[in-house]
Amino acid sequence: MAKRLAVPVKYDAVVVGAGFTGLYTLYKLRELGLKVVAFEAGNGVGGTWFWNRYPGARVDCQFPTYQYTFSKALFDKWNWSERFPAQEETERYLNFCADELDLRKDIHLNTRVTAAEFDESTERWAIRTDDGKTYDAQFFVPCTGILSSPISPFPGSEKFKGQLFHTARWPKAPVDFTGKRVGVVGVGATGMQVVQTIAPQVGSLKVFIRTANYSIDLNNPKLTDADRESTRKDYAKVVADINKSFGGLGFDVSANGSFHDHTPQQRQAIYEKIWADGTLRFWLGVWFDIIFDEEANREISDFVRNKIRGQINDPETADLLTPDFRFGTRRVPLQNGFYAAFNQDNVEAVGIKDDPIAAITEKGLKLKSGKEYELDILILATGFDAGRTLSQLNVHGRGGVTVKQVWDKDVRTTMGLMLHGFPNMFTPGAPLAPINAFCNVPHCSQHQGEWVAEAVRYMRDNGIKVLEPTKEVEDAWVQTHDNIVNMSLFPKTNTWYMGDNIEGKKRRLLAWLGGNPDYEQRCREVREKGFPGFATA
Ligand code: NAP
Repeated sequence: MAKRLAVPVKYDAVVVGAGFTGLYTLYKLRELGLKVVAFEAGNGVGGTWFWNRYPGARVDCQFPTYQYTFSKALFDKWNWSERFPAQEETERYLNFCADELDLRKDIHLNTRVTAAEFDESTERWAIRTDDGKTYDAQFFVPCTGILSSPISPFPGSEKFKGQLFHTARWPKAPVDFTGKRVGVVGVGATGMQVVQTIAPQVGSLKVFIRTANYSIDLNNPKLTDADRESTRKDYAKVVADINKSFGGLGFDVSANGSFHDHTPQQRQAIYEKIWADGTLRFWLGVWFDIIFDEEANREISDFVRNKIRGQINDPETADLLTPDFRFGTRRVPLQNGFYAAFNQDNVEAVGIKDDPIAAITEKGLKLKSGKEYELDILILATGFDAGRTLSQLNVHGRGGVTVKQVWDKDVRTTMGLMLHGFPNMFTPGAPLAPINAFCNVPHCSQHQGEWVAEAVRYMRDNGIKVLEPTKEVEDAWVQTHDNIVNMSLFPKTNTWYMGDNIEGKKRRLLAWLGGNPDYEQRCREVREKGFPGFATA
């Protein structure tokens, strides 16, 4: 780490990131009376909703779940306009929260944390920022999110003469697609939203597809005053339903029993009914067996494949867009117009499984076979190195060991909230918690922010200056996590959930699969029992 300034600025806690998690954690720590500062690399608050402003970016958790619920006053004051709000509205909401909770005075925008080091002699953190300042804090709280390090997998981007964008670094100024030859690489949730949004504007569109994805047909009505009012009246039930649901989305995943409780005809009727809801209920609210039982998975996979094929006119295009892996073992995007776009004459699906993209060229994209596609605009919807931002932060724990050194071998945490070897570092949003893979982020942000605040309160009440999970505690968490995952179908799929999109990354499901209520109960027990097995000083 570079030499520290002579007089570091002293805080109780330094938070990194001003998305849903960073904002709430800042709020909770400040509520405890701590002196807290938050650093955000962007020039606005919003995290994911600040950076991912690509055309069509939209929430996939249905109203009224995708918002903070801890304050009825905050809940009542904001008027959502759609069941699935767009990026702009969600970013505006987070700005509203920052104002309502008076958070801005403690947030430094345009400030990137470049290093953090635990000083074993003082047992405090030294945090360095890119404006050359150093901060001294008892607690270091990176809330850097799981999907904040975009990947651009192709060489040659500097040669391209047209406009090149990664969806996660989209400019604020509008991009004009009129009459342009546009290429989109990737058909995850992001690529689908981009394609369906720009297809009506482009001159021509080539969509480069390596793996076809499943998706659910989105049902996104505008909300009325009556919708908003009845939700406000039902606030207590809304919150209770979110709290007891598997993914914080309010769906009761056991409501329909098991796949095996029903005849094939009954199951088809259940699929159709839930499909019509147009939400992630079709993923996390049909029955649990979907992600644990091959037979249950086969049937629902076929059901969705039929829904997809039914929307595409050309059989060859339908082949390219029909997935062949197990439904639900990747995040399931919601679409409204993605498949229909391929029925336009100027939109083409380009299968690249057997002829992969070799490079970006001056004119566009070149495949391994040498075939070149000329483009005016190239959009990379190629995803993220999930969880990587924390390991890129240059965080040094005991003995100077970095998170990167630990995670390069094996992504591991204790409850996704702390790391052995990194005392007094809290990591809401880190892997091995439900995170955004299986959780509605505002809900888990609140739960984790509260847990961190309770941990700090416990330390203060008990005269503890340093808290750290032991290796044994962490090993046990990782083992329990792996045991649950190994019962599921996830390891059988190639997915960013398992780290497969990054060459050399050790395979491990990044998110806790036991569901939120189970996860939260485990976290609660650790706190209530006084952090058994944790080292304290
Ligand atoms: P993603 O799911 O990882 O999808 C990336 C896409 O790029 C895939 O189609 C992938 O193909 C393709 N790709 C990557 N490298 C490639 C290469 N070298 N050659 C060809 N194709 C390549 O990323 P994402 O769509 O940005 O979504 C990531 C996550 O963000 C989602 O799973 C979801 O959790 C979240 N998200 C949510 C929303 C929402 O609705 N709220 C919207 C967007 C994103 P392969 O599949 O073959 O690897």
